Amino acid sequence: MTGETQTAETPFGSLVSIGLEQTSTVDRVVEELRRAVFEGELESGTPLREVALAESLGVSRPTVREALTVLVADGLATREPHRGVAVATPDPESIGDVSRARGVLELAGVRHWDSADEADREAVRTALQEYGAAVARAAEYGELNRRHLAIHLSLVGLTGSPRLVAMAAQLTAELRLALAQVDRVRQNASDQAASHQHLLDLLEAGDVDAAAAELEEHLQGAESAILERLGLDPNPSPADQ
Ligand SMILES: [Zn+2]
Repeated sequence: MTGETQTAETPFGSLVSIGLEQTSTVDRVVEELRRAVFEGELESGTPLREVALAESLGVSRPTVREALTVLVADGLATREPHRGVAVATPDPESIGDVSRARGVLELAGVRHWDSADEADREAVRTALQEYGAAVARAAEYGELNRRHLAIHLSLVGLTGSPRLVAMAAQLTAELRLALAQVDRVRQNASDQAASHQHLLDLLEAGDVDAAAAELEEHLQGAESAILERLGLDPNPSPADQ
């Protein structure tokens, strides 16, 4: 915690150039804004105004300014010439690429269902039950989002490869911003729960091909919903134009 030495350890250490106490406050502001973005409380495009944020967070404007610099560096916010800083909007190419990559990993897991460890199969059932329970008690978006992603990670877990699970976790982190926006507005958590249950039912019945098809359709639907929600449809139908 000495300010003048060894700051090279953190990637954004150089951005936080003000006093020590200020620095830890900046970190807390960054954490709070990250949480609000990931939990869908702050939508893409929402202006992050220094004055308003300083007031509601009870910190100084320079502290907010430093925190926003970190968020911009993180890719969670963008700085526009005439609009100031706003919550970032994920670009369609990245969303498409992440969707393809996670599809490959999750489908590999589904295809391993028969040969997977019973513990890994049980992890899928547990993740689904926990998600269903969260939907039933109308949990907040942040929790639904987290539990939803846990189901998808558990599918990758069927491969029995911690490395593939780690890769999938990394990929879904990139989608968290976008998913938070979609799930917040979509409000059809129970429909989603039904789709995952159908997938599991097909697996339990031994119909891996049908389960793989169901998953592909589910992921395609998720990608379309994200792009549509964010107004990023790369191939809008004539009716939409
Ligand atoms: Zn899903």
